[in-house]
Amino acid sequence: MANHRFQSLETATQRPPVELNIPDGGIPSYFGEMVFNRKAMRDYLGNEAYKSVVAAMELGKKIDRSMADQIASGMKAWALNKGATHYTHWFQPLTGATAEKHDSFFEPTFDGQAMEKFDGSLLVQQEPDASSFPNGGIRNTFEARGYTAWDPTSAAFIMGTTLCIPTIFVAYTGEALDYKTPLLRALQVVDQAATDVCKYFDKNVNKVTSTLGWEQEYFLVDNALFKARPDLQQTGRTLLGHSPAKGQQLDDHYFGTIPERVMRFMQEFEYEAHRLGIPIKTRHNEVAPGQYEMAPIFEEANLAVDHNSLIMDVVEKVARRHGLRCLLHEKPFAGVNGSGKHNNWSLATDTGVNLLSPGKNPMGNLQFLTFFINTIKAVHRHADLLRSIIASAGNDHRLGANEAPPAIISVFIGSQLSAVLDELEKIESGKLSAEKKTELKLNVVGKIPEILLDNTDRNRTSPFAFTGNKFELRAVGSSANCAAPMTILNAIVAQQLKDFKSEVDALIDKKGLKKDDAIFNVLKEYIKSSKSIRFEGDGYSGDWEKEAEKRGLSNVRTTPHALDFFVSKDSIQLFEDLGVMNRTEIEARHEIMLENYQLKIQIESRVLGDISGNHLVPTALRYQTLLMQNIQGMHEVFGDKEFKKLTKVPRNMVQEIAERTSEIITLKEEMIEARKRANAVDDVRKRSIMYCEEVLPYFEKIRVHSDKLELLIDDEVWTLPKYREMLSLR
Ligand code: ADP
Ligand code: MG
Repeated sequence: MANHRFQSLETATQRPPVELNIPDGGIPSYFGEMVFNRKAMRDYLGNEAYKSVVAAMELGKKIDRSMADQIASGMKAWALNKGATHYTHWFQPLTGATAEKHDSFFEPTFDGQAMEKFDGSLLVQQEPDASSFPNGGIRNTFEARGYTAWDPTSAAFIMGTTLCIPTIFVAYTGEALDYKTPLLRALQVVDQAATDVCKYFDKNVNKVTSTLGWEQEYFLVDNALFKARPDLQQTGRTLLGHSPAKGQQLDDHYFGTIPERVMRFMQEFEYEAHRLGIPIKTRHNEVAPGQYEMAPIFEEANLAVDHNSLIMDVVEKVARRHGLRCLLHEKPFAGVNGSGKHNNWSLATDTGVNLLSPGKNPMGNLQFLTFFINTIKAVHRHADLLRSIIASAGNDHRLGANEAPPAIISVFIGSQLSAVLDELEKIESGKLSAEKKTELKLNVVGKIPEILLDNTDRNRTSPFAFTGNKFELRAVGSSANCAAPMTILNAIVAQQLKDFKSEVDALIDKKGLKKDDAIFNVLKEYIKSSKSIRFEGDGYSGDWEKEAEKRGLSNVRTTPHALDFFVSKDSIQLFEDLGVMNRTEIEARHEIMLENYQLKIQIESRVLGDISGNHLVPTALRYQTLLMQNIQGMHEVFGDKEFKKLTKVPRNMVQEIAERTSEIITLKEEMIEARKRANAVDDVRKRSIMYCEEVLPYFEKIRVHSDKLELLIDDEVWTLPKYREMLSLR
């Protein structure tokens, strides 16, 4: 007998390959063609207007109103030429998605005709009707409105037929309502702090930019199967499903070739990305079946953040054209790896030096060590804050599970740099002897470039690893907006660099130490005091948990508790001192993150309840009825005597189905009661904790029964696509 389930799957997932219309000229022929970049600006703006945008981009100079009109008019001409009909202020509200409200360029004129209108005021500021974006009470308490304001540091671009103008989103009272505003503030303070420190080494440095290269992991599933899974559709992850016999054990996906259909999808989204100026460079399979990764060449952090947000939209759109769905959730499938978004981060000077790349001479290396050690020290001071910013309902499935970096924040630097720090730690305090300095220069600081060439020790289990010329923050979730972790990382490093500078200056001014001696002295103290954050071993091991506890490092596995760190005294002081966020903004964000968490678990719980009620139980009962008919028939044929022995299997099955379905229903009802209790709690933190501790545990309990039923029940009648089907894309 033909397997109908299999046949319908075949039909649903088969489709002709999508035609690709990628020009022949290669990437250089279309890279950035949809971006109002410098070339487009030079073509469409007068000299003065061009200079004023560049000054705004490079030096943060204000653009005056008449200039804004000229820029808007050039931008409009460019956009119309490219076929755009609408424009939008594009921003990144705290929902995690990007937001846009499209307005047409077209406006009627008084004499009944139409003209295309777009002036400086429309470019610079807009008031989106955005009362539904999360604001953590800011706009209720203060002012009912917010506005979006042009961010000239990120170029405008065209998506489809819409000119998108990157903007920040703030309340009329000035509080940030988006991801971008605090990021821009953090980038500014790290620029200032790092530039000041650079001046110890090179007076010519006038600006330091933070660089970010993200690596984005994602899953692809067939759209037809996706649509048949209410959980994937509504929560982005599967809440049920037995692991396939063959998962990722053989690593064959990682090393295998990319399937034809996936390859076409990749080619097309990369084409779209390149037209938008997103420098996607790398594509490959990931460890789990159906999992892939993309990575661009790194860029200035603000632009890289925008590009990551943009690409998340692009891949979802392109995937649909290929009959696929792109899953950006951190853990779409249990039992195989989840997805992360590694944030490769560094600082670069306007003189072209990567501050986390060892220099060419001892002085350059001292500069490298300064930034390297200050970063470690910053992470040591604010490990908990860093932990809090990567917390989300989705990422809870990765952190602490045996795959992604653990929930314990630590820093990996490799054995060779560890040895360098150990040497520096031994130097005497105060003025260094001439011999000591020579020795340091020759044997310790001078040796760094050489040893880094042999950068063989790579630790994949560390949440924050030094990888030769940058740090890699690996614990960020795949669906996260990079702006949040980048705000924190740049802010904590900025604070640290400021403190470093005042300590060094104090040693020079008050103790009369030479500059080098003062720097060595402070670094030595930092190496000592931040030692507990350094860990070179296996981050997944149980031993590390015990060791970390001894060292006093936090190990918080769930979001609502991790978020407490975001509003700790230290965190608030950091944000306020640097002017990155004020107390209102911090508290509002805390509330929004808690609420996001709670709503996600609530939705998952409802979906699980629904699937239990209208997929699992009905399917189980139907199959049980079939078994009982079989048993009855057996009785008719064999009579009392042999019947019992011969129907042992179906009778046991009937019993198991009865027990498991009744368990599912009981658990589902208990889960609803738990939800009701939680919903009655006003305080969002308490409510989130209740969702975490009293609602969430039911998911696993229900799943156990469901996954057993999946194995017990005839494959033909099971209504939900199975893991082995979803994870084997062709
Ligand atoms: P890996 O060994 O981790 O694969 P790659 O050299 O491929 O390292 O880089 C991974 C990511 O790190 C890429 O996006 C790359 O552009 C980025 N990257 C490289 N150098 C820097 C830097 N100085 N600052 C930020 N990101 C960087
Ligand atoms: Mg990497």
